[in-house]
Amino acid sequence: MKNIFPDFPIFKTNPGLIYLDSAASAQKPQAVIDAEKNFYETSYANVHRGIYALSEKATELYEGSRETVRKFINAKSTKEIIFVRGATEGINLIAHSFGQQLRKDDVILLSEMEHHANIVPWQALATPSPLRGAPPAAGGAVLRWIPVTESGDLDLTNIDELLKGVKLVAVTQMSNVLGTVNDVQFLADKAHAVGAKILVDGAQSVPHMPVDVQKLNCDFLVFSGHKMLGPTGIGVVYIKQEILETMEPYQRGGNMILEVKKNSATWNGLPYKFEAGTPNIAGAIGLGAAIDYLQDVGMEKIWEHEQDLVKYGLAQFSVLKGVRVLGADATSARSAIFAFDIDGVHPHDIGSILDQQNIAVRAGHHCAQPLHEKFGLVATARASCYLYNTKEDIDVLVAGIKKVQETFT
Ligand code: PLP
Repeated sequence: MKNIFPDFPIFKTNPGLIYLDSAASAQKPQAVIDAEKNFYETSYANVHRGIYALSEKATELYEGSRETVRKFINAKSTKEIIFVRGATEGINLIAHSFGQQLRKDDVILLSEMEHHANIVPWQALATPSPLRGAPPAAGGAVLRWIPVTESGDLDLTNIDELLKGVKLVAVTQMSNVLGTVNDVQFLADKAHAVGAKILVDGAQSVPHMPVDVQKLNCDFLVFSGHKMLGPTGIGVVYIKQEILETMEPYQRGGNMILEVKKNSATWNGLPYKFEAGTPNIAGAIGLGAAIDYLQDVGMEKIWEHEQDLVKYGLAQFSVLKGVRVLGADATSARSAIFAFDIDGVHPHDIGSILDQQNIAVRAGHHCAQPLHEKFGLVATARASCYLYNTKEDIDVLVAGIKKVQETFT
């Protein structure tokens, strides 16, 4: 892989920084910063509405990014690409809009390794709200869970049983805690065989590995720009066109309409029907630049680089006494995410002592409380790598962990 380190200004402004929190959010290359800056300096206007050159230019850039996203995930049409704030908003869009098609006792199959973003929106369809009265799924959908094994894999032994009555499978392609890469292609085939749809949470996978919606044959895919070198506040929902055509709007207002009367309205075509209001234009342009950057480096190369890091990292962790890495023994493919626990040390203390050495890791439940509960933990410290990390970063982390242990003995 080419030397990308100089492309990231943060490593110049903060020399010595060991950034190991990319699963939460990634650092930005100059190309992404410049794309947003240039847009504001040279081409800024609202999109879709103006009949003047500047607005046309802004629209061209915004729609150009949509095409960049389409190609990146191999969607059939830009009609299938909806810009949202991030993976969380994407799943809420699907739960709100596709959720209206679910009926009482329809089963939504999740896994125990889901991020809260792929749990809580579904709970709204399953639990009656005292404010709203009956839930939208006409009396309550049912949540069911694919178990996670001790080693950190999905337990698919009883998948056929689990799929009975399922209308939607909603699973992560890559766990933000265990790093486990799930075989969503297999799950898509299984889901479709029982007439269910499948939503893939690509918040962790899309930034790190090639993801092709045709190959996966998924019905829905969501991801966030900020985890893949892009800006915050921009993300993507991919939905197969034939499904989108059956869905009611998510939010209502300007841009998503064709015509408005005092008491009624008709909807704009796809994907605009699902993009109410002024979108995050600069964010979408920044995301387009991030994708161009990632493709320039090469998604296969990024994945290979991270595979080297995960092998190296697990080997280094394995010789540390009193340190447990969740999902270290997973048999599935795995990304370079190390959520770990040190005997007798609170994860927040781990995070603070590492921070004193300019090593940035996250401590907490990483928005995956049911998963932590499964492992009998409340929290872990998590080091997560990306294309700019090296084996030396892992060496520094391991030395830092030894210091943490010395401090607490
Ligand atoms: N899904 C997974 C697996 C994640 O790791 C995250 C964020 O950490 C999300 C969803 C939510 O992403 P965002 O906060 O960008 O909406």
